[in-house]
Amino acid sequence: RGGQAEREIPFAKPNSLTRVYAVASGKGGVGKSSVTTNLAVALADQGLRVGVVDADIYGFSIPRMIGVEYPPTQVDDMIMPPEAKGVKVISVGMFVPGNSPVVWRGPMLHRALNQFLADVFWGDLDVLLLDLPPGTGDVAISVAQLLPGAEILVVTTPQQAAAEVAERAGSISTQTHQRIVGVIENMSWLELPGGTRQEIFGSGGGQAVADSLSRIVGTDIPLLGQIPLDVTMREGSDNGDPVVLSNPDGPAGVALRGIAKGL
Ligand code: ADP
Repeated sequence: RGGQAEREIPFAKPNSLTRVYAVASGKGGVGKSSVTTNLAVALADQGLRVGVVDADIYGFSIPRMIGVEYPPTQVDDMIMPPEAKGVKVISVGMFVPGNSPVVWRGPMLHRALNQFLADVFWGDLDVLLLDLPPGTGDVAISVAQLLPGAEILVVTTPQQAAAEVAERAGSISTQTHQRIVGVIENMSWLELPGGTRQEIFGSGGGQAVADSLSRIVGTDIPLLGQIPLDVTMREGSDNGDPVVLSNPDGPAGVALRGIAKGL
């Protein structure tokens, strides 16, 4: 928008009625994007107006996971986000030619995020979810600057190593004065025929992150839920058919719908 005054971010206004959740993780591969996708779809399924900003520059995957079938369009100088499963979606991947890898630098990212928030026609939203890149990088700081009211959801696996990096990612919110809503543990166990739980990635990571963030912040940060390993969750993400719709009564579907209900 060269030369023009910057448009305001509607979600940053003090009277905004949109709840903004930034989904963070310490490292990649813990299921942050699949969790974001499924929470968005579950919330839309409850009748809420939901948008997702996929700001995971290293692994933008939300459009495929949620089943976006057409690109954004432009009306006047606004970007109209495509909609899938009742959710409006905008992704860095929609603006990268031919999925080529891009070296994103801090200021570029900040501008892109600003544009996703200010120049996309979101309409009235009840909930906006932001899928952040893993780690404690520039994007978290940008989110804090652009959306001071954004609340943080931390995703981790049960593993000790994952828990430690997730804790670091979460604790950045103390510097930015953002509220941490809670911790979501993913890949918690695999339910075997007969009902025993095989804890493939160990146990206790989610509760450990919640406990240590509670100590850091000085208020109680809850463990919001545990999502089991579930092949239908992986399939749903691969096929653009999120598990909360394709297999809502399976292990992951039940857990994800429960977490969405509690938000
Ligand atoms: P991240 O965004 O943290 O990098 P993804 O959401 O891309 O992680 O998940 C990594 C892979 O693991 C994906 O193929 C996804 O479908 C799969 N996955 C995530 N959570 C589960 C789960 N609970 N059960 C089975 N597969 C899962």
